[in-house]
Amino acid sequence: MGSARAPQSSPPVAWGEFLLSQLFLGAVVVLHRLWEIHPFLPLPGYGGNIFETIAFHGPLALVANWPALTRLRASRGRFPRLAAFLAIFPAIGLDADHFLAAGTFEFLKVMNTDTPITHSLAFAGMLAAFVGALSERRYHAWLVGNGLLTHLGLDLTDSPIPLMPYLWPFPSPYAPPWVGFAVIEMSLILTWFLSRSSLLRIPPLSSGVWPSAHHPGPRPAPPSA
Ligand SMILES: [Zn+2]
Repeated sequence: MGSARAPQSSPPVAWGEFLLSQLFLGAVVVLHRLWEIHPFLPLPGYGGNIFETIAFHGPLALVANWPALTRLRASRGRFPRLAAFLAIFPAIGLDADHFLAAGTFEFLKVMNTDTPITHSLAFAGMLAAFVGALSERRYHAWLVGNGLLTHLGLDLTDSPIPLMPYLWPFPSPYAPPWVGFAVIEMSLILTWFLSRSSLLRIPPLSSGVWPSAHHPGPRPAPPSA
């Protein structure tokens, strides 16, 4: 009854933010499908592959990790650039493994070489654990692993592809495209829930109050002379 609002120790549910993430996720996936059906840029050789990797895998990893990045921004009072880099770069860089597997940059040879075992859940988990051990920040590990997960998910939507060692070291069955879409959707929903729990160890605001219409959050200190 008219009592003062207690400071919130956990972030409020921001459904608008979630729906926006969903919308962007859907837009990237739909544009990627259109690209797969009919590439809208005439890019010879590696051009189309490089465009696909940068234009779709990068934004998808960013969108799926967005709930965690916004929590970090609220916690820090500034955009977490290192976290955003970790969210996006491994998801783009993963396709470099095709060249390593082929041992050459020759286009036809690379295209005809089986996708290497690094396109697998096991590798995504290992790289995430490695980053987590290096940075000692659990959310860094999640951002890397989740970015790679969206990459694998988007690749799976091109299925049936027999070449993807998704479940390496176990044999990977042919999967219908909906499996890939489900993986991508799961990566966003998981990030959403985890970033609102203590599991990712995203530090709360120093005041213990998450930004809202009533509590805009701490202002950055003015630069000292
Ligand atoms: Zn790939």
